[in-house]
Amino acid sequence: MTSLKTGPSTPGLHLIYIPAVCALIAFQAYYSQYLFSSDPDLAPGPLTGRDSLTFNTLVACLWWTYYRACTVDPGRYIFPPSPTSSPPDPIASSNTLKPTRWCKKCAAPKPLRAHHCRHCRRCIPKMDHHCPWTGNCVSMQTFPHFLRFLLYTNFSLWYLASLLWQRVAAIWADRHLPAYLGPSLHSLVGLTLLSLANGATILALGILLYTTVKGWVFNSTMIEDWEVERHEAVLARMDSEDGYFWGDDDATLRELLEKIEFPYDLGVFANMAQAMGTRNPLRWFLPVFGGGPVINNETPGKGTGWEWEENGFNDLPGLWPPPDPEKVRQARRGAWPGAAGQQEDRYDTYQTPEEVKAAFAKRQEEDFLRRQRAQAQQAHQRSGIVAELEKWDDLGGTEVAKPWANSDGDRLWDYGVDEAVEEEIIPARKDDEDVPLAELIRRRKVRSRGEDD
Ligand SMILES: [Zn+2]
Ligand SMILES: [Zn+2]
Repeated sequence: MTSLKTGPSTPGLHLIYIPAVCALIAFQAYYSQYLFSSDPDLAPGPLTGRDSLTFNTLVACLWWTYYRACTVDPGRYIFPPSPTSSPPDPIASSNTLKPTRWCKKCAAPKPLRAHHCRHCRRCIPKMDHHCPWTGNCVSMQTFPHFLRFLLYTNFSLWYLASLLWQRVAAIWADRHLPAYLGPSLHSLVGLTLLSLANGATILALGILLYTTVKGWVFNSTMIEDWEVERHEAVLARMDSEDGYFWGDDDATLRELLEKIEFPYDLGVFANMAQAMGTRNPLRWFLPVFGGGPVINNETPGKGTGWEWEENGFNDLPGLWPPPDPEKVRQARRGAWPGAAGQQEDRYDTYQTPEEVKAAFAKRQEEDFLRRQRAQAQQAHQRSGIVAELEKWDDLGGTEVAKPWANSDGDRLWDYGVDEAVEEEIIPARKDDEDVPLAELIRRRKVRSRGEDD
């Protein structure tokens, strides 16, 4: 399944995915019709007018929805412009306020449900996964188009399957007749190739449709399903009293890691309406007029794409995703500089891409040095076998020590997420300032209005 969702690992190979999909659609949609009409011995003959109209209408919807799934913008967050010439961080301009998640590459707070896509090179609202077959992110804005594409593809494939089946059954029924009375060799080979291609795509796209509809009904993205699985694994591990895994951080980690319910499942209809951006089910499925939610950049921090309704099963909103113990542990060792270090590096303080790049490189270097210092200090304080184990552990990686993989072997990387920048600021305790982004932006706005007066 990994390759279906995630595409080739070889860079550059992604360029052939869209032409390959187009070739596969054209082969099944048009070569089939050519074959049916060109061989008079291929019973029951060319498509009837009704069959032809139905099939070609479905295929036209397929082409259109595929075009939309490939080209609709997955969304871009626009953060409020800074009021002064030396812009403060949009959120964390005082010690009491801090974002819970931060994107190092965008140098901006990361709204809930957003992830940084390494292909789209920005934080994507409600990122589901980056789809190699459309060369686009499946996100809050593109999900309806992706779903409609899968629906019309599956309808077209099943319709073609029934047409192919009629012809294969006719050949089977006449199997005792002399061969020269039946269809030509070319037709037999063509019919076989079409049936194989049809069967394989029905299987693959049937699975993809199933997982997509499941995510739609439960209001969870592929990435969030992965997070749910990781959270369950972490909780199970916590119960198993695995001393080595938790090491010295045991006590603090245990305090931080409590069971968090998946908060976005609001009920079937509410979930489906939210994902499609309308409560009118007719508009969910219309290929041309069917729309989708669009991020609200008019009042950043408010509304669609920034705020997500929660079901209230947790005692506070904004707790998802649950912390990754590896990242928390790294953060506690000094790998993560904290919000204060980010403030001078807001992207809009730089004029050219080179400056941005240079600043990013500098930040990386600083992070690295900080991490080295922290590690050296720790190694100095420890001794014996514990120090050896810790050192071994630290050698495992720099940005992300041990990326967790789910039961399919998928890491976040496989969904297109840039894991290196997916860092969490140490989650605050419940009684601390654990405030969701929208609330932080709201507070800052109130504060800056007060300063202006
Ligand atoms: Zn980002
Ligand atoms: Zn993407």
